[in-house]
Amino acid sequence: MTHSSAPTVRFAPSPTGRLHIGNMRTALFNWLYAQKNGGQFVLRLDDTDHERSTQEFADGIVEDLAWMGIHPDRVEKQSSRFELYDEVAKKLRDSGLLYACYETPDEIDRKRKRLMARGLAPVYDRAALKLTQDERDAFEAEGRTAHWRFLLPNFAETPFETRRTEVKFDDVLRGEQTVDLASMSDPVLIRGDGTYLYTLPSVVDDLDMGVTHVIRGGDHIANTGAQIAIFKAIGDVVPEFGHHNLLQNASGEGLSKRTGALSVMSLREDGLEPMSIASMATLTGTGQAIEACATMELLGETLDFTKVSKSNSKFDPADLVALNEKLLHEMSFADAQPRLQEMGCDLGEAFWETARPNLSRFADVKQWADIVAGKFDAAEIEPEDVEFLKEAKELLPAAPWDADIWSTWTTALKEKTGRKGRGLFMPLRLALTGQGHGPELADLLPLIGSEETLRRLP
Ligand code: GLU
Repeated sequence: MTHSSAPTVRFAPSPTGRLHIGNMRTALFNWLYAQKNGGQFVLRLDDTDHERSTQEFADGIVEDLAWMGIHPDRVEKQSSRFELYDEVAKKLRDSGLLYACYETPDEIDRKRKRLMARGLAPVYDRAALKLTQDERDAFEAEGRTAHWRFLLPNFAETPFETRRTEVKFDDVLRGEQTVDLASMSDPVLIRGDGTYLYTLPSVVDDLDMGVTHVIRGGDHIANTGAQIAIFKAIGDVVPEFGHHNLLQNASGEGLSKRTGALSVMSLREDGLEPMSIASMATLTGTGQAIEACATMELLGETLDFTKVSKSNSKFDPADLVALNEKLLHEMSFADAQPRLQEMGCDLGEAFWETARPNLSRFADVKQWADIVAGKFDAAEIEPEDVEFLKEAKELLPAAPWDADIWSTWTTALKEKTGRKGRGLFMPLRLALTGQGHGPELADLLPLIGSEETLRRLP
C-alpha cells in the first residue's frame, strides 16, 4: 500500500470531549499510514461549533496523542480559518451551487414524514429553489434567516428530476464503494445562524492542506459521496478515502466523546500502557490476532489494512487489561529500566524478570521492589507454622548462595519436617513476602538475600 508521492493524512476531531479509544483508532490508522509511507500527519481541530468546543479539550487531545506517541507535523484549528470558508461559500453561492432555504425544522420534519408514509426516501424536494426573490424577502421580513444547501449534481435537465448518479471511490480499506447522490438530500452547509456544519470546512481544509488520504470512520461513507461532489465543485483534486469500522462498547453501542466512557485519559489514569491501548485500538476488528505490539513500528508492520473488517466491532475493556499484562510480561529490562529508575525501583535485571510475570499495571512493580527491600506488613502466621518456620531458619544454607538455593533449602526442609506442597511453601511465602501469592520464591530468595531472609523468619 504505497502512494506514488508521500501522503498527507489528517486526524480531525472536534474538541468537544476527550478522545475515546474509537477516536484513537482513527488517529492511529492515520498515523500508521503516514509512518509506513513516509507521509505527514495533520491534526485538525474541527472547532466550528464554538458552543461545544473548548480549548481545554483541544489541549487534552494534543496531550492524549502525544502520550500515545503521535506527534503531528502540523496542527490547525478551523475556528481561525473562517475567512477561507466564507470565500468558498461565496463562490458557491455565486455559481448557484449553494442555495438559500427557509424551512423550519418542523416543516422539514413534516415533509420527511409525508414521504416516508408513502414509502419514499425522505429526500429534500428542493422547494426552496423555486422561491422568488419576493418570497425570500417575505421570509426574511418575518425574521427567518436562510440556511444554505449544496446542490448535488444528481440530475440532468432540471434539479426537480433527479436520476441515479453514482459516485465511486476505491476505499483504501474497503475496496470499491458506490454512493448514489440521488439517494440523499442536498446537504446543509451553513445553518440558519450562519455557522458552518462540518461538511464544507472539512473539504476546504482537505484541499487547502494538501490532504491526499482521508482516513476516518465508516459512519462517514455517505458523507464522502457528497463531499466528493463538493471537492469537484471547488477544486480539481479529490483525495483518496479510507473508512474503518467502528468500535462499540460491550453492549454494542457506539462510543461517544460526550460521555467520557473509555476515554484515553481514563485508561491512562488506570495505569494502562499506551502501546497496549494502541494495539487494542488498532487490531480489534481486523480479523488479525490482537498482539501486544511493543512499539509503533511493530504495530505498523503488524496492521494489515486489507484485513480490516467491514462490520463494527465490539470492544471489551477486560481484554485490554489482559493485553496490558501480556505487554508487561514481555517487556525487556532495557525498556523497563528507565521507568524503574524513575520510580526508585531499579533492583536490576533479575528483579525485573522475577517481578514482571506478576504485573497487571507497570506501577505494580513498586510493591515487589518494596517486598524485596523488606518494606511490607508482616502477614499473620498460623501458630502451627511458627515451629516450622523456626526449623526453616535453622536449615537455611549459609551465604554465599548458589542458583539452587531454594531447592537445596526446601529439599532439606521437606526431609526434616515431612511437609510438602502448599503446607511447605505457603508459610515461607507469607513470612518472606507478606503475601499469599507472587513471583516464584526460587527467584525471589536470591534477591532478598540471606541476611534479610533470616530476619524475616521467627
Ligand atoms: N470532525 C469530524 C468528526 O469528528 C471529522 C470527520 C472527518 O474525518 O472528516 O467526525
